[in-house]
Amino acid sequence: MKIAILGSGPLGLEAALHFDQLGAHVSLFSRGELGGMAKRVNAFASESSLEECWGEITSKHGRESLGLNIELSDIPSNEEYFEKYFRPLVEKGSQSIIVKPGNVERVHKRFLSLNEEVPGKSRLHDLFRVVYSTDPEHSILNQVESNPEVFEKLGEDVLNSLNESVESFEDFDLVIDASGIHSKANPIGPSQSFALNEEKLAAETKTFYGRECLENYKDATASSKHIVIVGDGHLAALLLCELDMWLEEDRERMVSLVTTQGQPFRDFLAEQENSTLALMTYENIQKYFEKLQIARRKFEEDLFKWRDLEPHIKAKTPAPQEPKSQLNLITASNVTSIDRLLDREGIFVTCETTGFRSGAIESEEQISTFACDSIFVCTGHKGGSSLATGLQGVAGASAEDYSHKEPGFYTLNGCLGGKNSLANGIKKISLIEREIMNFFSRA
Ligand SMILES: Cc1cc2nc3c(=O)[nH]c(=O)nc-3n(C[C@H](O)[C@H](O)[C@H](O)COP(=O)(O)OP(=O)(O)OC[C@H]3O[C@@H](n4cnc5c(N)ncnc54)[C@H](O)[C@@H]3O)c2cc1C
Repeated sequence: MKIAILGSGPLGLEAALHFDQLGAHVSLFSRGELGGMAKRVNAFASESSLEECWGEITSKHGRESLGLNIELSDIPSNEEYFEKYFRPLVEKGSQSIIVKPGNVERVHKRFLSLNEEVPGKSRLHDLFRVVYSTDPEHSILNQVESNPEVFEKLGEDVLNSLNESVESFEDFDLVIDASGIHSKANPIGPSQSFALNEEKLAAETKTFYGRECLENYKDATASSKHIVIVGDGHLAALLLCELDMWLEEDRERMVSLVTTQGQPFRDFLAEQENSTLALMTYENIQKYFEKLQIARRKFEEDLFKWRDLEPHIKAKTPAPQEPKSQLNLITASNVTSIDRLLDREGIFVTCETTGFRSGAIESEEQISTFACDSIFVCTGHKGGSSLATGLQGVAGASAEDYSHKEPGFYTLNGCLGGKNSLANGIKKISLIEREIMNFFSRA
């Protein structure tokens, strides 16, 4: 039985080891380094603790194969999870699992069209075709270095053509899509759709979606004075905590956070009240609120003093400026448009606020526009699989579904009850196994 697992985050790896141990022939498609979002979060905040305990975020098989001696009820830090469990598991796994470097472009049935059935048989009769592209530097160009004599004979034109990435394919009996929810990030606008001009401008401006926010964090912060975060979930919380240091370094820097909620991070804080990230998020918001209160009191005192100045001194003394918070919270609002600045590099963001949302401060609808340098879009993610639009019942599926109308194709992610966690994903692996075993049961 050949199984393809798409994506080499923690869940892809756990699933690969699980089915390998059951005797399947597993190929794990990996477009970068193994580790996925968990690795990126670790690189950002290695000391912060994970939300669940060892027993929930690791599999029994993984622990046993490593002979891991840990207290299952302890909650590890990101770093402990990585060093004690994930990294050794990768080493162990790469001895038996085939890791295929490549970006999976699409998955479809080898012959069957979307609504076609095989007479008297299930669609499982036809194999899945996984189409992936490889980076020439990792494949052909490596061979150029090791066999220069062969490639010398090919000539410059042929060598140049090898620079472009190439699509290849391989066929499988079963496919598990573990490409992670952050690779299918929602756009910035209302109703999980595009804001005005977004589709056209996103690529030309510093607008980053989902996991791109972490990948481009360094560049964005190095070249920006004003950063906008849209959304107030997990990813937004992590970015905001990281941006706290960036704000502290320079009083001229500013972060604007746009959320549809009346109170920012209300759902996130309620869901994860005791996690370190939730506590840090809450403390951060409080800190900037208190800073603004102090600055406002000082401003009022200065204003009174300025008003009392002798007219000839007052004429020469600039009036005190009303303070602005370095953390600007724009609540009960949607970003409805992005535009380009004409006079310098940058982006205009237009937000519209409605009064009907619970917790909305204003009762009237309002429009505001401001300039910024970068936007981190953290508005959640799409359901289904963007890789398998050519398979039955996959495209419209919710992010929580692991099983689809297409027999033999599964989605493995950590989404359950609105929460994305490793613990949820680990539970889904045995559910997928049960579904696969149904194919073997007697009629
Ligand atoms: C800020 C933050 C904090 C978090 N904290 C926790 C926590 O404390 N505890 C917890 O349990 N969870 C936490 N999570 C969620 C956690 O990151 C996920 O549960 C976990 O990463 C899910 O793993 P995954 O394998 O499904 O996906 P991912 O980790 O997203 O991995 C997917 C992999 O697939 C690869 N991929 C994507 N598309 C393709 C393609 N087309 N071809 C090839 N490869 C592809 C990606 O490069 C990536 O390596 C947090 C998430 C965030 C954003």
